[in-house]
Amino acid sequence: MSQRKIRVRFAPSPTGPLHIGGVRTALYNYLFAKQHGGDFVLRIEDTDSQRFVPGAEKYIIESLDWLGIRFDEGVSFGGNYGPYRQSERRAIYKEYVDQLLSDGKAYIAFDTPEELDKKRQETANFQYDASTRMQMRNSLKLEESEVERLVKEGCQYVVRIKIEPDEEVVVNDLIRGKVTINSSVLDDKVLYKSADQLPTYHLANIVDDHLMKITHVIRGEEWLPSAPLHVLLYRGLGWEESMPEFAHLPLLLKPEGNGKLSKRDGDRLGFPVFPLEWKDPQTGDISSGYRESGYLPEAVVNFLALLGWNPGDDQEIMNMVELIQKFDLSHCSRSGAKFDYEKGKWFNHQYILKKENKEVATLFMPILKANGVKANEDYVEKVVGMMKERVSFVKELWDQASFFFVAPENYDEKTVKKRWKENSSSQLSELIEVLKVREPFDIEGTEEEVKSWIEQKGYHLGNIMNATRLALVGEGKGPHIFDITEALGKEESIRRIQRAIDVLK
Ligand code: GLU
Repeated sequence: MSQRKIRVRFAPSPTGPLHIGGVRTALYNYLFAKQHGGDFVLRIEDTDSQRFVPGAEKYIIESLDWLGIRFDEGVSFGGNYGPYRQSERRAIYKEYVDQLLSDGKAYIAFDTPEELDKKRQETANFQYDASTRMQMRNSLKLEESEVERLVKEGCQYVVRIKIEPDEEVVVNDLIRGKVTINSSVLDDKVLYKSADQLPTYHLANIVDDHLMKITHVIRGEEWLPSAPLHVLLYRGLGWEESMPEFAHLPLLLKPEGNGKLSKRDGDRLGFPVFPLEWKDPQTGDISSGYRESGYLPEAVVNFLALLGWNPGDDQEIMNMVELIQKFDLSHCSRSGAKFDYEKGKWFNHQYILKKENKEVATLFMPILKANGVKANEDYVEKVVGMMKERVSFVKELWDQASFFFVAPENYDEKTVKKRWKENSSSQLSELIEVLKVREPFDIEGTEEEVKSWIEQKGYHLGNIMNATRLALVGEGKGPHIFDITEALGKEESIRRIQRAIDVLK
């Protein structure tokens, strides 16, 4: 086992947009694979035609690509173990269904949905298992000739696993440890349906993990009773020796910690639960995505990595390379991880700070353009440098810094009342004269000169600075005054001050 090349897979069902919990599962698989120099496979588990949603597969691939979670093999990547879409592997599964049947590890059942419903109504907590199967219409109960006749006549059937009662089933899980389950609690799960000639998830999943030489199954959320059933299936197929190791990840919980995170929590609290925006092909409903909401992919990756895992110390900021180095299944928690989306914003802020101003400027340019601003890249870069500390999202730069690009038209009323004094007009007129002759129009020099003029005149420093800020920004916010004047330049600074005098005097 230990000599085998590490191979893991992400095996989503294309039943809709990939949930953020699924993204975390993919990420952990990726980190594990890369750390061990192994392969990461994308398998699409589309055996449930009822739940198939067009566009979901493409969405999954695009989402993980955006986040930099890369596959070595699988749907849309190729490889030696394909096809990687389960719907294209019918013939492969049929062989193993037949093997289980001929070995007596599975049986054919003809019970219709109506018959099963009736049974459930008659018997409280009905379970299709060793205690009830002889009361049902299946190949264990019926004569062989009768079974043959029904199949020949085209009667629909399913194949069920035959679980032997009262056996100890041991599941070794890298995160949850060793769990022993009595097989009597398990039911004879359906493995195959004649109606669509496809296996169900349980069988297809195991057959593919085996044939694709998967060494570690790191899966999200689902845990009991699937894991013991899977162990029994490996046993039934004679593959127990090469069974992969299991690691079942902790649940992602609601921000309040009570129960599983759902799409509704996102709607309720205003944060995305999907990586990319998703338009429901049936209803046309739009669900928001991290990408469109302005999150940086690096921030999302870092945030998700820490939902259920920690590096063993209190380091929080880790890029993909560091995550690959540090990731360790034994540091995954067993208990659920609260989805703290405020922390997600914090990560985004941190990654904006870490990025070069030039890069942030490039992200800000289209937002400026959308607001009708044509600005020079160097100037945008300079503004970003002054303002990025104040934002969690690049788009917030517009709220914080639009005055660098567009002169104020109106002046915030409250600020005017508080900050524009009786003598502000005359004092700012004098200030304009000081600024006019100031050369160079730099930050420190201009500040020094203005301050010494104020001192010499015996004016109130705070009052003049506040009124000037109002003139330049239109309200009481913004960075250091002389950072603003230097960026705007002499002409524009003077123009804004003069206009405020004209309007407010
Ligand atoms: N298709 C399953 C799902 O999307 C895969 C679970 C697994 O990783 O085995 O839940």
